[in-house]
Amino acid sequence: MNKYDYESLLDRAIESLPEKVTAKERFQMPRGMVFYEGNTTILKNFLDIASIVNREPQHILSYLLKELGTAGEADGERAIFQGKIPERKIQDRIEEYVNRFVLCRECGRPDTKLIKKNRTLLLKCEACGAIHPVKARKIKRE
Ligand SMILES: [Zn+2]
Repeated sequence: MNKYDYESLLDRAIESLPEKVTAKERFQMPRGMVFYEGNTTILKNFLDIASIVNREPQHILSYLLKELGTAGEADGERAIFQGKIPERKIQDRIEEYVNRFVLCRECGRPDTKLIKKNRTLLLKCEACGAIHPVKARKIKRE
């Protein structure tokens, strides 16, 4: 094998690598931007998060409200929660939502959609075709 063959093989090896890596890295867990106003907690980039994960803002909001155990509402781009909720708690719930309702369990991509079949909520992956029931909620958490 001459040196050029080796180098072109190496090039090809390198070229074929980033494709998979970037596919995995393309999705970044959205980070909530949280601040406080009086006795309310504002999630400033609520709509952004909804559009990043490609889910109905209302679905995310009701999930967050339920999981955070508070009342609240969407307000334009933002979501407003009653009470002062630690930023980390909100972030945890966002990540939990994404893990349960967005990311494919098979390939880890976010290119999924929710479908309902016989009252079961399923996560269908557009990237690899896998279909899974949405993960059951954890019964216990810290
Ligand atoms: Zn998949």
